[in-house]
Amino acid sequence: MNFLKEKIYSGERISAEEALELFTWDIIDLGRAGDARRKIAFPKEEVGFIVDRIVNFTNICEAACSFCAFHARANLIQPYELTMEDIFGKIEELTAAGGTQVMLQGGLHPDYTLAIYTNMINGVKKRFPGIYLHSLSPAEIVHISRKSSMSITNVVTALKEAGLDSVPGASDLLVDRIRQRISPKKITVDEWRNVLHALYRNDMKTSATMTYGMGETVKEKIEHLSVIRDIQDSTGIIRAFIPWSFSPANTGMSHILPATGMEYLKIVPIARIFLDNITYIQAGWLTEGLKLAQLALAMGANDMGGVLMEEVVVKATGIKTRTNSDELVGIIKNAGKIPVQRDSQYKVARKF
Ligand code: SF4
Repeated sequence: MNFLKEKIYSGERISAEEALELFTWDIIDLGRAGDARRKIAFPKEEVGFIVDRIVNFTNICEAACSFCAFHARANLIQPYELTMEDIFGKIEELTAAGGTQVMLQGGLHPDYTLAIYTNMINGVKKRFPGIYLHSLSPAEIVHISRKSSMSITNVVTALKEAGLDSVPGASDLLVDRIRQRISPKKITVDEWRNVLHALYRNDMKTSATMTYGMGETVKEKIEHLSVIRDIQDSTGIIRAFIPWSFSPANTGMSHILPATGMEYLKIVPIARIFLDNITYIQAGWLTEGLKLAQLALAMGANDMGGVLMEEVVVKATGIKTRTNSDELVGIIKNAGKIPVQRDSQYKVARKF
């Protein structure tokens, strides 16, 4: 066994340089190593999923990122703003289907200040006290802080007081060279870090994601993972990591070729091995398809994320994958794992 393999199988932390070397490994060796590290991080064979819904309350966005097909200026979806009654109607459908988590997310609307968000969150919580709000994003929090001339920490405190439970870490790619090119009006890497520190100060949890295949180098992929590992070392608030490939269709970057299945099946085990301080790695069935996500369960992933009763942002890029609880249960069982429906805090609600 070579030195790096020994390090991985004995559960030691690997360096950024060593992570780079993993991209040259044979895919089967890499997958096995990813699964070995999954067993160290999470020895059970359970794979969870949650019944949730994303409610994208507006697509009006002043950032107009070139990798996004959802915002109104991409000219695919007419500008819209949901009313509270629209939002309530969608959540009623979710609760009727046994759903427990809502992700309220929207574009960076030029006129939305803190009161709009706190009223929305408070309104939902009053009407649906049992619903867990895993909502907004670091970019929205920075947007609110700018529009309301408040510190990021005070914005997070106000959102928490209104009823916000946790915030998805919506990380895109945490590499300023890439962000400058494709989303110059969205937050910088430092601002993303600031939001996570503000969440930490407010005793709130988050997640981290990775959208790769946007023109970054292999080294920059590891740079992204390093930002996440470092911040998790200092805060411990990241519950899960979710890598997915960029879907270029219908975006201002449609000339880029989509990342391949092989690239996805490398990212999952590399993330599992490198992010030794994060328990859950989610398989991204929405962008990668259910079959590839199922394979990821053998290579380091241990969660299937949400059934996403409604999703608009990725759908705008032409992706049509849909699923439901029964299908996820079947896929997880067929992968030799034990399916569990979980809550937002990763507690098992039901075993299948
Ligand atoms: S990715 Fe987010 S911030 Fe960027 S244009 Fe789309 S909605 Fe706006």
